[in-house]
Amino acid sequence: MLTILKNMVTYVRNLINGDEYISDRTKITYVLTYTSVIHVLCAVFFAYYGLLLLAIYNIGAFFVHQFLIGMAKKKIFLPAMTLSCVEIMVFSILTTLCIGNFLNFNLYCFCIIPAIYYVTSTVKDFKKNSGFAFGFSVLALITYITTLLLDYYAEPWFYINLTHSILSLLVESINGVMVIGMMVIFSLLFTWEVKNDTDTLEKRNQKLLDFANKDPLTRLPNRRSMMQVLNVSMHQVQIGASAFSIILGDIDNFKKINDNYGHDMGDKVLVSVANQITSQLRDGDAVCRWGGEEILILVRGDLDTAISIAERIRGAIQETDVTHNNSTVRVTMTFGVAEAEKGYRIEQLIQQADNRLYYGKEHGKNQTVSA
Ligand code: GH3
Ligand code: MG
Ligand code: MG
Repeated sequence: MLTILKNMVTYVRNLINGDEYISDRTKITYVLTYTSVIHVLCAVFFAYYGLLLLAIYNIGAFFVHQFLIGMAKKKIFLPAMTLSCVEIMVFSILTTLCIGNFLNFNLYCFCIIPAIYYVTSTVKDFKKNSGFAFGFSVLALITYITTLLLDYYAEPWFYINLTHSILSLLVESINGVMVIGMMVIFSLLFTWEVKNDTDTLEKRNQKLLDFANKDPLTRLPNRRSMMQVLNVSMHQVQIGASAFSIILGDIDNFKKINDNYGHDMGDKVLVSVANQITSQLRDGDAVCRWGGEEILILVRGDLDTAISIAERIRGAIQETDVTHNNSTVRVTMTFGVAEAEKGYRIEQLIQQADNRLYYGKEHGKNQTVSA
């Protein structure tokens, strides 16, 4: 029982915050359902006071809305919303003709404005159709003024014994609340739309950023994004702010892995190596896929710090099994380490690390070279 209550509270909170996805169809169906419920209440009210014409009209409007809900369910949004708005205008005028507008029934024509703006700006079928919304808003205003004029100049067709009673106050208030309720609903719906659209855009932006800056296989940053980090770090070294070193690593005999076990095994080894390296780094350090099976690591610290990190990574990698299609392999890596110094250019620093890596490859591989 408590869980159900909790779930309901969460659902309503999500709805209000716009975290709950609601389809166009559901939104329009809810709006039309809300309108049809108001017509049922009106039908009961008018029947109670013997105003048969209005009672029958409202029952008819209820059924019309059931038909419109059916249209909305089939995603025929534009005609469904248009007909509903026209119906509300007819309702406002007819009610005023019948009993005058002292009970606020004419206010319902104002619901049309947020409804039509909402629909035209959020539902796919309507988009880029603000002239339509503006036209309907003007019509709503004309309808309202017509009800005022009718109320002033025309005798109501029927007399309703409610003037200045407490019940009249109640009906006026209920109508006011219903109209304001409709406006609140549309304001909320707008908020949700904006939030959903913003979330979608943010996700897309993130995807684009990932696409531009990350290697799709290993999920490591790529050379391009590492160059930005290197530039900033090099600037800090030039102004004496903080030291850094780089480790350039290359998988030993990687070609053989591809040749003997296939390219998929090679890919799996690359991913495993990337994960091992990432798990060995500290906050502030950075790693990227520099090239095919070359990895470049930026370490915040001097040469000795970088050497010890390279050795730790080398140890971890040579002890890690990679399994694919019932075959298991282990790889080793060779590392060249260099510390950034004042007056260096990035290219020089990388060249130094590369020379040391090359030296390591020439002298037995699976080692860290720092001089
Ligand atoms: P060394 O110990 O001297 O580095 O020898 P090696 O075989 O590792 O070096 P080599 O440069 O001859 O071969 C690198 C291979 O890496 C060749 C290329 O096909 C492979 N390679 C590069 N990128 C990828 C990749 O994304 N996936 C796979 N499976 N292989 C790759
Ligand atoms: Mg290699
Ligand atoms: Mg290589």
